[in-house]
Amino acid sequence: MINATGYRFVKAGDDGLRRFLKPIVSANRWMVYRWPWERKVRITHPNKVNPESLDRFKVRRHEFHHVQDFTPWWGPWLCIALAVLFPFPLLFSGRWFLERRPYRDEIDLGWNTVDKVVDTLGGFKYGWAWPKAWMRRWLESHEKDKDGNLLV
Ligand SMILES: [Zn+2]
Repeated sequence: MINATGYRFVKAGDDGLRRFLKPIVSANRWMVYRWPWERKVRITHPNKVNPESLDRFKVRRHEFHHVQDFTPWWGPWLCIALAVLFPFPLLFSGRWFLERRPYRDEIDLGWNTVDKVVDTLGGFKYGWAWPKAWMRRWLESHEKDKDGNLLV
């Protein structure tokens, strides 16, 4: 099996999958994925954005969590498994399992709040990913102290 070794930035307009998904995934969104036969995880970004600019620091940190998801050999299959188990992009969506760690990290860093994350993931943008009360319970039960230790 191929192990991922890092990542590379790709403009949404230069990426075949992003062009294919254009009718359903806005070209203004960031998206991370890796084909099983590729070594590097792709971080696809809006065409007009410089992904390495300083003001994209928070977005990069979020997307690097997804790079970690896709880095192991089973990373690409994880996404397929979630898509099969939770095939719809709304309600009980598999995206919740991919998004909860990066968003939990944003809360730990003080960049976001549980309320805002629950509203974001439980709203239109994320297809009402998961029941709000369940997301809140997970986010609140996975708090960390200032040293990064889970306070469960
Ligand atoms: Zn994300």
